[in-house]
Amino acid sequence: MARLELDDVTKVYRGDDDEAGVVAVDDVSVEVPDGDFLVLVGPSGCGKSTTLRMIAGLETVTAGEVTLGDRTINDVSAQERDIAMVFQSYALYPHKTVRDNIAFGLEESTDRSDGEIASAVEEVTELMGIDDLLDRKPGELSGGQQQRVALGRAIVRDPDAFLMDEPLSNLDAKLRAEMRTELQHLQEQLGVTTVYVTHDQTEAMTMGDRIAVLDQGELQQVGTPLECYHQPNNLFVAGFIGEPSMNVFDGHLQTTELVTDSFTYSFSAESVSDLDLEDDSELVLGIRPEDIELGEHSTDENRFEAEVVVVEPMGNENIVHLQFDDTPTDDEFIATTEGVPSVSSGDRVGVVFPEAAIHLFEADTGKAVKNRQLSFTGTPAEMLQ
Ligand code: ADP
Repeated sequence: MARLELDDVTKVYRGDDDEAGVVAVDDVSVEVPDGDFLVLVGPSGCGKSTTLRMIAGLETVTAGEVTLGDRTINDVSAQERDIAMVFQSYALYPHKTVRDNIAFGLEESTDRSDGEIASAVEEVTELMGIDDLLDRKPGELSGGQQQRVALGRAIVRDPDAFLMDEPLSNLDAKLRAEMRTELQHLQEQLGVTTVYVTHDQTEAMTMGDRIAVLDQGELQQVGTPLECYHQPNNLFVAGFIGEPSMNVFDGHLQTTELVTDSFTYSFSAESVSDLDLEDDSELVLGIRPEDIELGEHSTDENRFEAEVVVVEPMGNENIVHLQFDDTPTDDEFIATTEGVPSVSSGDRVGVVFPEAAIHLFEADTGKAVKNRQLSFTGTPAEMLQ
């Protein structure tokens, strides 16, 4: 087991006559303490797999340093790195049994006796709940069982670190949710430093001790899932983390009011002076769907009128699509409510955006200038641990 660190790691892919190349990973620095679970999350093409492949030694590092334990491993070959990788495609040998698939890596990489290998394989298959499948071949297993074999093969090597590249994406939704929990328990039990790549923000939110959000090769934020959700560094993180996404409205500041195409939001004078914003700044106001209150009788200053476009009852919550007057038809925003739906399409409702829940971002850079307040007496970092 070991701590993993990336320092200013950059990867540029260059073709033969391609001077500039593609910057796949741009100056990324992140630390994974010994035994921690870091989820690397971002949209397709943001550089997740490239980052993982550099850690594994399957891709050279253009600039920066990768450190595992106390040694820099940039120039160490993949075989000599004590790292086990699990892929989306399970990459099992179809003609070998489960027992032989799991034993194979050990036979190749260690000088343990046959007896030691056999008992290591049995121990791992028991841990993974596949000890009754030892003599089957991959073709005789379900997708979930194959994934367990692939994980078992990684675990049996007892590596310094696990790297997992979308390992659950071939499974159906129910099994994926089950395996998420199982993987987390397993990782806690084994205490092996793990980097897990996914494009799925739900997976990132539910699995990671910490998540690292990437966009276009650049690291946007590293934090606990709740930090990234409630205290996003910028508009990208705010929009990417959370489903349905945060609602955003462009506006410009006039003394203590934010004027948007649809409404004028009044801030308390103190909050604007605390933020130290210049008059006429171009800003983006953000509010999460669950923070919007639908209330006819509210006397809140920031109560606006909107029309309900459609209500999607999900059972545990309702996703209410809303629209302000005079806005383009595709310019909806979303509120979520609990219980039995109290509004239906065509209704005109009052919507309240409580000031404590408002986020503000600079329009040109996307940087957060104000995040929501948290109803907690400690520091935000303590609450979001
Ligand atoms: P992700 O895993 O987040 O989907 P990747 O790490 O696969 O993203 O890719 C990051 C960027 O690098 C993308 O723009 C992709 O097109 C580019 N890329 C990946 N592999 C190569 C390669 N072998 N040669 C050139 N460009 C590549």
